Amino acid sequence: MDLRTRSIPELAADVRSGRLDALALCEAALERIERCDEAYGAWLHVASDAARDAARIVDERRARGDELGPLAGIPIAIKDVLCTVDQPTTAASRILVRHGEPWRPPYDATAVRRLRDAGALLLGKANCDEFAMGSSNEHSAFKLARNPWDLSRTPGGSSGGSAVAVAAAMVPGALGTDTGGSVRQPASFTGTVGVKPTYGRVSRHGLIAFASSLDQVGPLTADVQSAAALLEVIAGHDPNDATSSTRPVPALVAACERSVRGLRVGVPKEYFAKGLEPEVEASVRAALTALERDGVELVPMALPHTRHAIATYYVIASAECSSNLARFDGVRFGARAEGERELARMTSITRGRGFGAEVKRRILLGTFVLSSGYAEAYYQRAQRVRRAIADDFHRAFRDVHAIAAPVSPTVAFPLGSRLDDPLAMYLADIYTLPSSLAGVPALSVPCGLAEGSRMPVGLQLIGPPFDEAGLFALARAVERQTPTMRAEVA
Ligand code: GLN
Repeated sequence: MDLRTRSIPELAADVRSGRLDALALCEAALERIERCDEAYGAWLHVASDAARDAARIVDERRARGDELGPLAGIPIAIKDVLCTVDQPTTAASRILVRHGEPWRPPYDATAVRRLRDAGALLLGKANCDEFAMGSSNEHSAFKLARNPWDLSRTPGGSSGGSAVAVAAAMVPGALGTDTGGSVRQPASFTGTVGVKPTYGRVSRHGLIAFASSLDQVGPLTADVQSAAALLEVIAGHDPNDATSSTRPVPALVAACERSVRGLRVGVPKEYFAKGLEPEVEASVRAALTALERDGVELVPMALPHTRHAIATYYVIASAECSSNLARFDGVRFGARAEGERELARMTSITRGRGFGAEVKRRILLGTFVLSSGYAEAYYQRAQRVRRAIADDFHRAFRDVHAIAAPVSPTVAFPLGSRLDDPLAMYLADIYTLPSSLAGVPALSVPCGLAEGSRMPVGLQLIGPPFDEAGLFALARAVERQTPTMRAEVA
């Protein structure tokens, strides 16, 4: 059974009607993981028994005639920065592993809980960059994740494992998190759909925080409707997250079929500038033409503060991470360095051993930009530039319904090629950071294979706050006109 050939709503309908057993679906997913994850590295933990138990419960309830949730029987991967009460949670960091035993959270993240309540089968925890810091999954403390389209290339990051689990047909859907592109960029690199919802659309309760003013949980799936189906379940107000919005969640799956005729879509010139690979640009432009065929009007426009996004993001995100990661001190959280009697020394050894190089780099940078004497020059100034970047978008959305752009300037790059050059790694985030800083929703939808490399390319669609529905309609229009792209997998 190729899990990529049917959408999540279709699979769920089959489970509900009894045409498909949840247990059979679960076994198909587990069998694929067993057979091929050695090569791909998508999973940090597979909860086979718990998933089978959950599947049996779905099948029993169906046999009894009980009402089933909208995701009943659907196998899902969860990025390992989201808390799961019955499964280990490590943020792909050694600091959350003590004597070989990973941390077990006392509760589920709200997004995870909502999936469970909807009947989804939580198959396990997906590989990612340590504490979600990275763009290639190479900062995972545990293992590499590989791109199913070309095993010598990165699947992107930080939600690399989630993207691979979907692209290699191990699960029909996954949760990732996106602080500056970590759902959209791996989606683009693996030919999957990835959504970063509006800041506040999805609860972050139970998400191990990286940069709290930016973090959002979002779905990765093989097709647009499946992404809408997952977002519909996880979105909505949560009293446990004061930043989650009370706005009602519209019918997102239905929105995929909305007509896009007459919509105005902005094409920002800053996103088609030097540095964009010609083969990526060609696929993106083909998608723009496809939208035009559907009656969309393309509007040339500008987002003038785009060039400041990388500096702004890496100041703000690092500042927030230095503060959020203070809790991993060997007392509140984190595997304590043993035998140390003095507190400061114990904390320093705990953190020195527990964190990887990239996390340390961010903490040092963040502590520096917040330190007295520098906070005004760096942190406060970055906040003002962030406002200017957000204003670019708010101004633009007075004139256009959405914005279309590339997700990344390149296709998936070779493993190892940027590992020694943090700046080169950061520069790759140029097109995803501005919308993160502005808090507006954005997604990546596959729009073709690059001509030379034959690697997937994603089109980014960015919308006004809380208009995920509008983005799904446009993404579905692109999807309808793009030949199906599937990695050939074992
Ligand atoms: N690549 C960006 C970073 O390293 C974004 C990460 C993310 O969205 N979690 O910070």
